[in-house]
Amino acid sequence: MNKREIVRCLRLANDLWAIEGANPFRVRAHERAAEAILESPLAIEEILALPPGSIRGVGRETLAMIRELQEHGMSGLLGRMRITTPVDAAELLRLPGIGPKTARRLVHDMGICSPMELKQALASGALREVPGLGVSRLARLRRELDVLLERKLSTPIAAAWPLACQLVQQLEACPCVQRAAVTGAARRLASMMPTVDLVVACTDTRWLTQWAQSMGELVSRSDGGGPVRQGPADDGPDRNQDTPSVTVASQDHLHRLEVALPWAGESARVRLYAADATRFPQVWMRTTGDSTHQQVVAALLAENGVEWTADDRLVRGGKVLTVRDEADLYRLAGLPFYPPEVREGRGVLCDVGRLIQQTDIRGDLHVHTNWSDGLLSISQVVEAAEARGYEYVAITDHSRSLTIAGGLTPERVRQQAREIAQVRARSRIKILHGIEVDILPDGRLDLPDGVLMELDLVIASVHSALHQPRAQLTERVLAAIEHPAVHVIGHLTGRLLGRRSACDLDTGRLLQRAVELGVMFELNANPNRLDIAEDLLREAKSQGMKVPINTDAHHEPEFNHMEYGVRMARRGWLYREDVLNTLPYEELMERLRTKRHL
Ligand SMILES: [Zn+2]
Ligand SMILES: [Zn+2]
Repeated sequence: MNKREIVRCLRLANDLWAIEGANPFRVRAHERAAEAILESPLAIEEILALPPGSIRGVGRETLAMIRELQEHGMSGLLGRMRITTPVDAAELLRLPGIGPKTARRLVHDMGICSPMELKQALASGALREVPGLGVSRLARLRRELDVLLERKLSTPIAAAWPLACQLVQQLEACPCVQRAAVTGAARRLASMMPTVDLVVACTDTRWLTQWAQSMGELVSRSDGGGPVRQGPADDGPDRNQDTPSVTVASQDHLHRLEVALPWAGESARVRLYAADATRFPQVWMRTTGDSTHQQVVAALLAENGVEWTADDRLVRGGKVLTVRDEADLYRLAGLPFYPPEVREGRGVLCDVGRLIQQTDIRGDLHVHTNWSDGLLSISQVVEAAEARGYEYVAITDHSRSLTIAGGLTPERVRQQAREIAQVRARSRIKILHGIEVDILPDGRLDLPDGVLMELDLVIASVHSALHQPRAQLTERVLAAIEHPAVHVIGHLTGRLLGRRSACDLDTGRLLQRAVELGVMFELNANPNRLDIAEDLLREAKSQGMKVPINTDAHHEPEFNHMEYGVRMARRGWLYREDVLNTLPYEELMERLRTKRHL
C-alpha cells in the first residue's frame, strides 16, 4: 500500500471505531496522527523505522496499525481492532446531522449499514421513529444523501477540469502523440460528470495503454466497465495493489481506455478515446456531445450532401473529406463555431457570435483581502487585478457576524476605507469599496444601514442557517433584496458541487422582485460553486437582469476562476450586454448609484 492508501485506511478504521463507541478524544487523536502522516515528507518505510512519537501524534498504536496494514491489509487491521461495523457504514458519517451516535443507532439497531440502505429506509418511512431526526432534518438528509450518492459515481468540475488539463499536457509532451484534448462533459463545463474524458491521436496505441497504466497512482480494477467502487472497501486480500488495470474497449477505428485514479481525496474515472489523426475533429466533436447537438450538426451536414459515417468519416459524393478542426465541420454544416458550453439541448437557438468572452470582462466585483479571510493585502489585490488587465476591482470583505472569517465591524469598515483611499492614490485602476454583508437568519443585514449606504457596492449573502424551511429562507433573501443599500445577492443557492446541494428557495419569486428593484444575482465563478447555474442564468437574462461574474477570490490564483465563470455564463447563454462587469467604470458606477434611487 502506498502512503495515501494507508492514511485512507487509518481514517476509515477510525470512523468505524467511532461508530462502535470509542472515546471521542482518542478518535480525535487518531485523526491527527493520520493527518501528520499524510503531511510528513517521509515515506511509510521511513516512518516505520522511527521510534514512536518522532512524528507528532504518531505513537506506538498508530505505528502498529500501519504495520498491520502493510502485512495483512484492511481486514487484518479491523480484525485486530475487533471492529464489527461494516466498512460502508463509515460513509454515513459524511452526512450532515449524523454523528457517531446516530450512526451507531442506524447500524446496530436498524441494520442500516450504507448510504444506499439509508436511502431505502428513508423512502419506506422507517426513519420517522428515530429520535433526533425530525421532519426538516429528514428532508435535508434526503437531499444530502442524493448528493453523496451522485458523488460516489461522479467527479465535480472543480476536480475534473484541472485533472483533464494536466493529463492533456502530459500527453502532448509524448513524441508519439499528435494531438490531445479535453472532451466530454468537462469540456462543456457540466457541473458533475461520470467520467473525465480525453481524446488523443497517437501513433502507438500499445504505448497509450502503458501510459494509462502508469497514470498517477492507479487504483483501478477491471470490472467490465461498471462503476468503480471507491475506498478501501475494495481491499480484499485477493486484490493486487501493485498492478492496476486499464479497461480497453475497441471499435475498429476507436480505442477506449478507462482508468480510475485517486484525485483530490476521491477517485476519478478517466476515459481516453484514441482516434487516428485524420478523424480527430469528428471524434472530438462526437465525444464532446451532447448527442442532440451532434445529431443536429450531422443532419445539417447531410442536407449539404456530407455524410458523417458511424466510423467518423465525412463522405461527399463517394469521396472522403478531411477537415482540420471543428470549425471546418461547422462550416460544412453551414453553422458558426459553437463553443462547447452551448452544445447542449436547445443551444443551437442562441446567437453564438454574441456570447460573452473572457476579454469582455473589465473587472472583478467580489474579492476578499486579509482584512477578513483573504490572503492578500488591498494593494496585492489591486496588483492581481492590474496583472489581468482589468479596469476596476471591488474589495468586498465579510461582515462581522462571520467571526471565523474575521468579518468587519462598522469601525473596521471605516478604517478599511482609509487604507483604500491611500491605495487609490497610487493605483492605475479604479477600486470600489464594497462589502459582502451577511444576511442574518432573521433577514436583517449584519451592518447598520448608514455604513452600507456609504459603500460603493453591497453584496448580500447567506452563510449560516442554510437549511431553514423554504418559505422562511425565501423571505429572508427577499428581505435582503428589498434593502435599499443592496446591489447584488452573492452565491444565491449556496450549493457546493458534490458536497452540498442548493438551498431550498423560491428562485422565481426572488428573481421577479430582484428585477423590479434593480438587484442582481451574481454568478459566483468559484468552480466549487458556479452559482447561479445555467437555468436560472437563462431566466435572469430573459427578464433583463445584468449578472456580475465574480470570482470571490481569497488569494491570487483564484482570480483565474473568472474563466470558469465566463464559461458558465455561456452555458446560460449570456451575451456581453447581459454581464455587469463588462461595463466601463463610469457606466458601472452610474448603474450602482441609480439602483439606490429607483
Ligand atoms: Zn460568500
Ligand atoms: Zn465572498
